[in-house]
Amino acid sequence: MMKDYEFWFVVGSQFLYGSEVLDTVAKRGAEIAEKLNQSGNLPCNVVYKVTAKTNQEITELVRQANFDARCAGIITWCHTFSPSKMWINGLASLQKPYCHLATQYNREIPNEEIDMDFMNLNQSAHGDREHGFIAARLRMPRKVVAGYWQEESVQKRLGEWMRAAVGVAFSKNLSVMRFGDNMREVAVTEGDKVEVQIKLGWQVNTWPVGTLVEYMDAVTDAELEAQMDIYRNAYTLPQGDLTAVYYQAREEIAMKKMLDEQNCKAFSNTFQDLYGMQQLPGLASQHLMSLGYGYGGEGDWKVAAMTAIMKAMSEGMHGGTAFMEDYTYHLAKGNEFSLGAHMLEVCPSIAQDKPRIEVHPLGIGDREAPARLVFEGHAGAAIVVSLVDMGGRLRLICQDIECIPAAMDMPNLPVARVMWKPAPDLATGIECWVTAGGAHHTVLSYDVTAEQMRQWANMMQIEYVHIGADTTPEKLEEELFLKDIAWKLRAL
Ligand code: MN
Repeated sequence: MMKDYEFWFVVGSQFLYGSEVLDTVAKRGAEIAEKLNQSGNLPCNVVYKVTAKTNQEITELVRQANFDARCAGIITWCHTFSPSKMWINGLASLQKPYCHLATQYNREIPNEEIDMDFMNLNQSAHGDREHGFIAARLRMPRKVVAGYWQEESVQKRLGEWMRAAVGVAFSKNLSVMRFGDNMREVAVTEGDKVEVQIKLGWQVNTWPVGTLVEYMDAVTDAELEAQMDIYRNAYTLPQGDLTAVYYQAREEIAMKKMLDEQNCKAFSNTFQDLYGMQQLPGLASQHLMSLGYGYGGEGDWKVAAMTAIMKAMSEGMHGGTAFMEDYTYHLAKGNEFSLGAHMLEVCPSIAQDKPRIEVHPLGIGDREAPARLVFEGHAGAAIVVSLVDMGGRLRLICQDIECIPAAMDMPNLPVARVMWKPAPDLATGIECWVTAGGAHHTVLSYDVTAEQMRQWANMMQIEYVHIGADTTPEKLEEELFLKDIAWKLRAL
């Protein structure tokens, strides 16, 4: 949970200025932390820790930060000048996300008041430069946020970084439950699970579908009725026979029990491995996603994990984050767009109106017609994200998209759907996405931004590719070529 995390505020200084100045710096450090917390613009608390004056103080603080599970990152700032050689030992061992807040206590230069005492106390402009150099020299992944600390836009940028840092903490503890293997012959949903655990922390393991069926058989009538009440409250139920809906309730209860017992926050399954199950989970997976679990279809555990991480990063926001798939295009000249959907499993957090539960045959596989939620996604700016395994390294691809109001009602399409225009335009956007090797499965989010995904990839030390309004296939190809060399050198 977002509220379980905190960020440690570390103010850099030195002994040169005397105790009076250091007392003032410490007081102001605590005041800034307190006012940032009161602003309502940060998702987690900032905790003022220390005005650091020595190598030992900084090294000890980093040691504590590394081992404190609540600490999701450190925020540094230099009110005065803090010689950076005293930061080397600490920063070199830092294992938590790191943000440098380049700000100053006063907003304006006080014309009448300013004298050399004021200059000695208020030196952020050069103190923060000395501090920035050492992080650059150490090649540390970090975010620099500059501007006046009471400014809402600065606080919001800090808050956005905090959410990305929480995504790092969440990722490092994430377990993914696989029901069945990857869909036969599919390449892009494969990946090196050992490499992913080393890089991103994910524990990706498999559990037998037969065990899930045993859990389903053990579900009680009382549990089923309670689950049906949850569905009745949130969704519009079909008229008449509810057998298929009850069956989804049974699947959801059983999957949730297994996920929670193993502390897994994401899962994948495949329609090719449903032995002993009568329906592919549809409504069941959709409702689990709305509770924050990540999901990936056809054994796609990478997209399942990314869905869970991006949901954790956007906790408490209301735009929605969903497992998604590029399905089909509308290529009418001047009004081109993409239609995203899935066989069943799109998260209702992106729904425009109250979702309907409907029961339809799947048209693929050999099971009973599954109940699923049907709805339109809402309009708005969003991103789609895909993590692919390039062999030896991971690449995170993120594209800006604009979701549009449903352009047609598609009365015979029995699945949740959303339409969007990708940046920079449909054809160029496809060319860039395909060139970068992006998957058909993505995470679509209205809440997480491309900049946050860039920060997350940076903190995770994986390749990041952004397709936005200014991207051209020519520039992208060159970027991919250079990055390929850079990442190979980095691996040496
Ligand atoms: Mn799929």
